[in-house]
Amino acid sequence: MKQKKIPLRKCVACQQMMPKKELIRVVKTPNDDIIIDLTGKKAGRGAYLCGKLSCFRLAKKSRALDRALKQSVSADIYDALEQDFIKVEDEFIAGKEAAVDDE
Ligand SMILES: [Zn+2]
Repeated sequence: MKQKKIPLRKCVACQQMMPKKELIRVVKTPNDDIIIDLTGKKAGRGAYLCGKLSCFRLAKKSRALDRALKQSVSADIYDALEQDFIKVEDEFIAGKEAAVDDE
């Protein structure tokens, strides 16, 4: 039987390899906005984080997004992302439970 490959990505905060759907994508859009991309399909340079606030806080502390997105991310942006992260966390977890594997 053919084994299904699960695409893995690395969390920029804790460096763990995880299946893509376990991760929240942060994307730098072509307009240089840095936003959370729950669809995982927005254009731009992306960085992945475990869907856990603790990992986001770790990324903030270690400035992991600066490195992953190759630009300096201001404290204001980290704060705004953190607020968004808290907002999307529930939605993310709910979506994960409902998710059908379409890959
Ligand atoms: Zn992580």
